[in-house]
Amino acid sequence: MAERIAVAEIFGPTLQGEGPHAGEPTVFVRTGGCDFSCSWCDSLHAVDPFFSPLWSRMAPDEIIAALTELWPSSPACSLTLSGGNPAMWDGLGAVAAAWPGPVRLETQGTIVPAWLGQMTTIVVSPKPPSSGQPGAARLEAFMSAVPENCEVVFKVPCASAADLDWAIATHASYATRVPLLFIQPVNDPITELGVDELIARWEQLWAWLRPLKAPHVRLSHQQHVLAWGNAKGV
Ligand code: SF4
Repeated sequence: MAERIAVAEIFGPTLQGEGPHAGEPTVFVRTGGCDFSCSWCDSLHAVDPFFSPLWSRMAPDEIIAALTELWPSSPACSLTLSGGNPAMWDGLGAVAAAWPGPVRLETQGTIVPAWLGQMTTIVVSPKPPSSGQPGAARLEAFMSAVPENCEVVFKVPCASAADLDWAIATHASYATRVPLLFIQPVNDPITELGVDELIARWEQLWAWLRPLKAPHVRLSHQQHVLAWGNAKGV
């Protein structure tokens, strides 16, 4: 019997709000469950076991049917697999195989799923010291499994100058394979920061980044949060 995947949300089409494909129309599957518990996680509804009774348990073909309802036309938009940590779920290989458009994975790089080679893009998001998590503990094994033909970038939320230094140093070990490092302000949804505070954090990151003269670093916003706050399903 096919694995039933914990699904916190399926939604779209919406705009990818961050990273290398910001502004791209996409449909999202946000899986439930994560092997991390970051201090400023902005997806607690897909991480905290308190919310798990709200997650749907879906077979891969049910997920594909739901996605096709959201985007029935051809050509297909991209499919974003996010979480939580979607790499926990073996059944997403069948979802990726059935989706006719590009498939982009967002993960912290701790678990190597059997279907990693099916991804068009892998956005690896190792977590810096302020997360309170062992950010790059399993990153080397993950990166050694990334297929050659796959687009891969790093994306690191940063809350401090120390986080930024950590992100640049961590990325440096993989710079040959991963040309770009995206950084963005952390966004704690519990306090609902507001646009002014998010922009202030972005400006602070630039103040820390500017003297480092790092042309491969891309400072970005979470565009969807600026537009829609931390609303779910967008
Ligand atoms: S890895 Fe991502 S989804 Fe998991 S707890 Fe950290 S921020 Fe949240």
